[in-house]
Amino acid sequence: MKIGILSEDKNLYSTRRLIEASKEKGHEVRVINTLRCYMNITSKSPTIHYRGENLEDFDAIIPRIGHSISFYGASVVRQFEMMHVFCLNESVAITRARDKLRSLQLLSRKGVGMPITGFAHSPDDIDDLIKMVGGPPLVIKLLEGTHGIGVVLAETKSAATSVIEAFLGLKVNIMLQEYIKESNGADIRCFVIGNKVVGSIIRQAIPGEFRSNLHRGGTGIKTKLTPIERKTAVEAAKIMGLNVAGVDILRSKRGPLVMEVNASPGLKGVEEVTGKNIASLIIEFIEDNSKPGKTKTRGKG
Ligand code: ADP
Ligand code: MG
Repeated sequence: MKIGILSEDKNLYSTRRLIEASKEKGHEVRVINTLRCYMNITSKSPTIHYRGENLEDFDAIIPRIGHSISFYGASVVRQFEMMHVFCLNESVAITRARDKLRSLQLLSRKGVGMPITGFAHSPDDIDDLIKMVGGPPLVIKLLEGTHGIGVVLAETKSAATSVIEAFLGLKVNIMLQEYIKESNGADIRCFVIGNKVVGSIIRQAIPGEFRSNLHRGGTGIKTKLTPIERKTAVEAAKIMGLNVAGVDILRSKRGPLVMEVNASPGLKGVEEVTGKNIASLIIEFIEDNSKPGKTKTRGKG
């Protein structure tokens, strides 16, 4: 097969591992810098151009779209879909996952457990919103944050009110969330491929920090999921329409709560901690599923 990896840097751990796994399985693989793709969307036969060349004949595309280029990245993926190339994760699903609120709305519609979450636009509604999510301590999040940046724990009502006012004043979208204290600064990253969790790790925040992101100094430890956690992770990925996803779950008194679903989950933490060859499992999924034009939305989304 001819596999294309959309990535901004071929030296990133995940990209490197996907290249290795593709080669090991005898595939032709090429890294395509997402931002260097330009597209002809005016003709009936959509094309993608790259440094003067017409990109053709790919059997599958692995999108590794960084958060800072979500908009352009999703358009490039959509263009490949319009060319009937199998994309490991579809553009619509990637776009959905990038918006935390939209993701939670979709998950809630299907009854997936999640922390109580509120959303408002007007500063006049802050008081009621704080009450709605159960009062302080509570977590305030930027809708499009990542790596724990833009996630604040407000211990008191006055802290919460000032942070919310500051964010709203900056015209950024935020959501308020019940703080799940009993998770003790830990969450579970479930790596889902298709309808299976292929690896899971607990991420534990450093002392004095509630955010467990590895980018915030958190450490990963291998963990075994309960059947309900496994089921929740697979279901969340499915609802989002992602073939490959990193589903983040908090362990709470009332069971597993989904916090977010990542569309380009990193391989480093999960491979290093579990010792599993996740990259190879991703390539196997592509081997089994990539049929031209199999993309469900065909780029209509
Ligand atoms: P990001 O997209 O920036 O990673 P998250 O929503 O995943 O944002 O939050 C970052 C971290 O903060 C999580 O991994 C978790 O450890 C902690 N966290 C987030 N929301 C809550 C919550 N409602 N209760 C307890 N801890 C939380
Ligand atoms: Mg996260």
